[in-house]
Amino acid sequence: MKRALVTGGSGGIGAAICSRLAADGHHVIVHANRGLDKAQALVAQIQAAGGSAQAVAFDVTDRQATAAALERLVEEGAIQILVNNAGIHDDAVFPGMSGEQWDRVLDVSLNGFFNVTQPLTMPMMRTRWGRIVSISSVAAIAGNRGQVNYSAAKGALHAASKSLALELASRGVTVNAVAPGLIATDMIDGSFDADAVKKLVPMQRVGRPEEVADLVAFLASDRAAYISGQVISINGAMI
Ligand code: NDP
Repeated sequence: MKRALVTGGSGGIGAAICSRLAADGHHVIVHANRGLDKAQALVAQIQAAGGSAQAVAFDVTDRQATAAALERLVEEGAIQILVNNAGIHDDAVFPGMSGEQWDRVLDVSLNGFFNVTQPLTMPMMRTRWGRIVSISSVAAIAGNRGQVNYSAAKGALHAASKSLALELASRGVTVNAVAPGLIATDMIDGSFDADAVKKLVPMQRVGRPEEVADLVAFLASDRAAYISGQVISINGAMI
């Protein structure tokens, strides 16, 4: 059993990842920002199914609060699986995009990556086994109109993961990014009707959070020990 932290575990994809990792026998720390009640409900569900979990809440853009929360968690035991999943989008065509929209999206995805990952790196390295998986997006690979901020933030996760993978390669820690296409969660709810999905996705359907969770769980397993520094897409053949 490893201790796994999933940021944004209160959201659609994060909840599926938490459930999958718990079913695989890990102790899961279900993280939330504003949705602590959702994280607590998921913890109860995991425990009812015989799994092990706890909930935690902090804003990943708040470096000090994040560091304090992580310190408390690491005192209870090293976190060996980290899934950086918390993310937001705040779309606008670029000429109309405000500085606040740019900053907000970069702050959660990119600064959030630093704020959560950096304090956990040394304790993870000391155990000589670790998995860091960050959830990016097809928008980082193909681009998307109205998402210059989101694409930039997610693309930066690809570059950061590749560099960190090199630094941690000799310590048994792998670092990868998973780039989903359209996945059925609140984030895209109402944004794409059936016709739009058919046009955009060769498989003619949106993905399920559980499908992303299965990929993340594989990357978090012993079986994926030789996969590092990679960006792995899961998008119904979109690109
Ligand atoms: P949701 O909106 O369902 O979940 C987003 C999660 O991020 C929530 O748990 C939320 O916490 C958390 N979060 C947001 N802001 C902060 C913050 N400042 N600090 C801490 N946590 C925060 O989205 P999805 O489940 O759909 O998305 C999960 C990830 O997958 C995101 O990174 C997203 O960009 C990415 N993705 C999603 C796709 C999709 O089609 N759904 C496609 C490609 C990528 P809380 O609710 O508790 O405040």
